[in-house]
Amino acid sequence: TVGAVAIDIYGNISAATSTGGIRGKPHGRVGDSPILGSGTIANNRIAGVSATGDGEYILRFNLAQQILQRIRYEGKSGQEATEDALNAMKEEVGGSAGAITIDHNGEVGIFFISNQMLWGYRQGNLIRYGANKGQVIEEEADDN
Ligand code: ASP
Repeated sequence: TVGAVAIDIYGNISAATSTGGIRGKPHGRVGDSPILGSGTIANNRIAGVSATGDGEYILRFNLAQQILQRIRYEGKSGQEATEDALNAMKEEVGGSAGAITIDHNGEVGIFFISNQMLWGYRQGNLIRYGANKGQVIEEEADDN
């Protein structure tokens, strides 16, 4: 799965999720990625979210919407909401997953309850990326 979230200078928020699904999937399986509120969602007033992981569990929990609700109704940041929702998913329905979020303040949220999730973003001149738990690699962008 490849997911992206973005906010422009006017505050427009977008989210996109592309996936090949899971290994051995049954013919006709749709998965969570194209289902708004599960694998993908964007709302200019709240946040954009793209999720990856066990689609059947993400669908059951409505992961993307759960993250948005925590920002909207609990005043959490993108990071707090992403962490909180994924921990709740683990406890309430199980499964392995991760998500990236950009909230209406432009704050990035990244969290995963899977072993690994490749992620990366650029803010100004700073590039940050990682894959393993607690791993954050920082680099200066070189646009020349
Ligand atoms: N969430 C995707 C699916 O279940 C798989 C993935 O994220 O790798 O279809």
